[in-house]
Amino acid sequence: MRKIGSRLAKSMLSPAFEYRAWLTRFTTLSRFMSTNTPTTARLTPEAFRAELAALDVREDNYATRVVDLVLALGRVDGVSDLHLLPTHAGLEVRWRLDGVLASLASLPAELAGNVIARLKVLAGLLTYRTDVPQEGRLHGYASAAAAAGPIASDVDMRLATCPTVLGEKALIRVFPLMSRHTRLDGLGYPADIAAWLERTVHSSAGVALICGPAGSGKTTTLYAALGEITASATPLRSVVSLEDPVERPIDGVAQTEIDEGGAIDMASGLKYLLRQDPEVIMVGEIRDRDCARLAFQAALTGHLVLSSFHAGSAAEAIVRLGDIGVDGYLLRSGLVGIVCQRLVRRLCECAETVTDGGDLLGLDVSTARQATGCGACRGTGYRGRLPIAELLVADVAMLAERETAAIRRLAGQRGMADHAARARQAVEAGLTSPAEVRRVFGFDDRQSDG
Ligand SMILES: [Zn+2]
Repeated sequence: MRKIGSRLAKSMLSPAFEYRAWLTRFTTLSRFMSTNTPTTARLTPEAFRAELAALDVREDNYATRVVDLVLALGRVDGVSDLHLLPTHAGLEVRWRLDGVLASLASLPAELAGNVIARLKVLAGLLTYRTDVPQEGRLHGYASAAAAAGPIASDVDMRLATCPTVLGEKALIRVFPLMSRHTRLDGLGYPADIAAWLERTVHSSAGVALICGPAGSGKTTTLYAALGEITASATPLRSVVSLEDPVERPIDGVAQTEIDEGGAIDMASGLKYLLRQDPEVIMVGEIRDRDCARLAFQAALTGHLVLSSFHAGSAAEAIVRLGDIGVDGYLLRSGLVGIVCQRLVRRLCECAETVTDGGDLLGLDVSTARQATGCGACRGTGYRGRLPIAELLVADVAMLAERETAAIRRLAGQRGMADHAARARQAVEAGLTSPAEVRRVFGFDDRQSDG
């Protein structure tokens, strides 16, 4: 996909346009999680539709007011993305709430161009270019408009537009500026994994990886880890990060944004950072051989490296590290552990105990709760999310294996609770529902590690 992106960029755009970076940002950013915190904004889909219906499409400022309303959706707890999707019927407004995409309303097709153009103005993009993807921040607007109402300065929003055959599509990604969870113990990990993470971030050297697909909360965990390190006053540690992009500023961390195709890419950035006397290095994501080898070599020379890595399971991560060219000796001496996770929605207090065995959906659990829905959860039955994570501290025998299944088998013999086991624990504890586990992990436990 990235190759196609580069080719597209070459044919469509000036060299200066960072399509690659744009696409990377678009596809690899992790989403934030939220737990059962009180909602800061009470805008419901119904209220949104009512306010939208109250606007007069003949008014000159219709597009402006629609955009204000849409951006207000971004302040709702748990919303990570807003989509404006051109369809034959009009411009469809969608949001991703707690990881689930839902349609909210459709705007008149003839005004779609004005709405997208208004957003582009706010993000400082070229309104007359509707034929190329563009990206910009809505942050400046957020601060200026905070007093006026629609967006407070507690979120940063980024706009990415993309031409489609039916017109321009707009995606607004929402990032919380001040995390509600700056510490690891607030993320909802099982106690043993939380304890391992806390021990690891205070260790002096090694590579710790957070794995999972896009949107599995990897970045949130890495930020919490950095927060944990910088919150410990003694000893003071030199912490640097290399990110794409920097999602949130963290005091006490020298955060560098990479610029693929520009002056600082992942591999060259890592080389620069290693000359900055770092003790802890956070690499947003290890994507290729150069970056992976540098990260593991840094660990060998006494640095703690925290990074995310794209893999469906901890066992798969080990195989993939080998595939991209990380030598066995680097893994054996550098890798301290892998946490691999997915996010599931957390049941609201309104959940009810399952009485019909069929509602366990074939999960091997003794008890479970299921979603009902109330005002507090907007009728969804869920509020916030929590990670279902497996932790693999690999030994020499596992690292010598080249097959995911063999590593899984060894890990199981050593007592690793895999995703299926962790999911069952979360269901039995009433934290999430059988239906949610099935939605996220599929219907076959054997394949739950993707
Ligand atoms: Zn509820």
